[in-house]
Amino acid sequence: MEYQVHIIGGGMAGSEAAWQLARRGIRVRLSEMRGGGDTTPAHQSDGLAELVCSNSFRSDDHEKNAVGLLHEEMRRCDSLLMAAAEKARVPAGSALAVDRDVFSAAVEEALRSLPTLEIVRERVDVLPQDGLAIVATGPLTAPALAGSIGAATGADSLAFFDAIAPIVYRDSIDMKVAWMASRWDKGAEASLALGGDGRDYINCPMTKEQYFAFWEELQAGEKTEFREWEANTPYFDGCMPIEVMAARGPETLRFGPMKPVGLDNPHWATAEHPNGRWPYAVVQLRQDNKLGTLWNMVGFQTKLKYAEQVRIFRTIPGLENAEFARLGGLHRNTFLNSPTLLDRQLRLKSAPHIRFAGQITGCEGYVESASVGLLAGLMAAAELAGRNWTPPPRTSALGALLSHITGDAEAESFQPMNVNFGLFPPLADVKKKQRKEAYTERAKADLRDWLPTLA
Ligand SMILES: Cc1cc2nc3c(=O)[nH]c(=O)nc-3n(C[C@H](O)[C@H](O)[C@H](O)COP(=O)(O)OP(=O)(O)OC[C@H]3O[C@@H](n4cnc5c(N)ncnc54)[C@H](O)[C@@H]3O)c2cc1C
Repeated sequence: MEYQVHIIGGGMAGSEAAWQLARRGIRVRLSEMRGGGDTTPAHQSDGLAELVCSNSFRSDDHEKNAVGLLHEEMRRCDSLLMAAAEKARVPAGSALAVDRDVFSAAVEEALRSLPTLEIVRERVDVLPQDGLAIVATGPLTAPALAGSIGAATGADSLAFFDAIAPIVYRDSIDMKVAWMASRWDKGAEASLALGGDGRDYINCPMTKEQYFAFWEELQAGEKTEFREWEANTPYFDGCMPIEVMAARGPETLRFGPMKPVGLDNPHWATAEHPNGRWPYAVVQLRQDNKLGTLWNMVGFQTKLKYAEQVRIFRTIPGLENAEFARLGGLHRNTFLNSPTLLDRQLRLKSAPHIRFAGQITGCEGYVESASVGLLAGLMAAAELAGRNWTPPPRTSALGALLSHITGDAEAESFQPMNVNFGLFPPLADVKKKQRKEAYTERAKADLRDWLPTLA
C-alpha cells in the first residue's frame, strides 16, 4: 500500500497517532521493531502500546487533577488508548489502572480493523528523507535511529539521560524565609532583556546546623537502585545526583550547588550589615516556565525515593510547605531539546516533513506520551487535508502540555515533564483552594469550542 504518513514506533504515541490518522481514511504505515527480531531493554512483549512498567494511567479525577483532565480531553478527541483503557480497566480507586495484556490487545485489534493502516514489524534506522513522518520511538529509541536523529538535530540537542531536579510550585514557597537574588547581582542586563528585574533566583538560606543536618539526611535517605541496563549508561558530572555529591565529603555541596557566596540574605539584615549576610549554604531555585509558576531546584537531580525527597526537601528553610510539580529522578531516556528544535506543530524545524511524538518530545508518562501522539496525528491529518491547524487552547491540558514542550519551557534546563497545573495560565483571582476545579472547568469550556475545528 502506498502510504501518506509513515509512523515509526508502535508504542503509546505511535499507536494513538496511527488511530487518529487511519480512522480518517488516511493511508498509514506503522513500523514497529518489536515482533521483527528487535526489542528494547524494557519491553517484554511484541504487543503494540505495551506498558513497560506500572499498569496505571494515574488519577482519573477530571475535576481536580491535571492528568485526570488530560484523560477526559483525550476521550473527547476519540482517543483509542483511552477507549482501550476503559475495556481493560481494573479496580484501582480513583486511578485508571488496566490489565496490560488486555489493553495492548485492544489497541492492536482496533488498529488492525482499520483498512488504511498497515502494521509492519521492522526496525527503521534512518530518518525518512521525504514524505510525512511521525517519529514516536520513545525513551528507548533504537541506537541507529537515535544516531540519525542526533545527526539531524545536533548531538547536543538529543539527551540519553534525564537528570531531573525537583520542580516546585512558586506559590508554595515561603518568601518570608526565601528571597530573590542573583549571585553578586550579576546578569542584570540579560535578566531585564527577558522581562526579569535582575533578581532571577529564589534562594533558601541555611545556617551551619541546618546544613549539616540536611547533609546527613541526604546520605541516610532511601535511594532507588539503577536498573541493570541503566547502570551502564554513564552520567556526566553536571548531572550527578545530589546524594552522590554529598557522599564525597561534608563540604562538597557548599562548594557546589549550595554555594552561598555573593548572596546577601536581606532577611538577616542588621545595622552593621544593612544588605544582610551570606548564609552558610543556599538552595537555589530557577524559573522553569515562561508563566513563572514552576521553579526547579538547581543541581538537585536525585535518585532518592519520592517520599524521601518530599520529607527531606521540606526541611529546607522556605520549602517547609513546598508542593512539588514533579520530583527528581535519573533514568535512561532519549529525548530532544524540543523547545529549540520543534515548531509549534511538533515538526522538526530543519526538516518539517518529520514530526516527533511521545516521550521523545520531552513529555513524561504513558498518558502524556499518548496525548502528544494524538496531537501529532491530528496535526498531520489537518496538513494532508490542506486545513489550517488550530492548536488546542492553552488553558486545556492538551494545550498546556503542547505549549510547554514546543517553546514555553526553558530550553536550557529542559527535562521531561508530566502534565500539571503549573503549566496552565494562572488564575490568580481564584482562591487557592478552588483553583484546581477552576482550571478544569475553564479547560473543558475552552476545549468544547476547539473540538469543532477537528474534522
Ligand atoms: C523503564 C521505563 C519505565 C517507565 N515506567 C513508566 C510508568 O510506570 N508510568 C508511566 O506513566 N510512564 C513510564 N515510563 C515513561 C513513558 O511513559 C513510557 O516509556 C511510554 O511508553 C512512552 O511512550 P512512547 O510512545 O513515547 O514510547 P514507547 O511506548 O516506548 O514506544 C516506542 C516504540 O518504538 C519502538 N521503536 C524504538 N526504536 C525503533 C526503531 N528504530 N524502529 C521501529 N520501532 C522502534 C519501540 O519498540 C516501542 O514500541 C517509563 C519509561 C521507561 C523507559
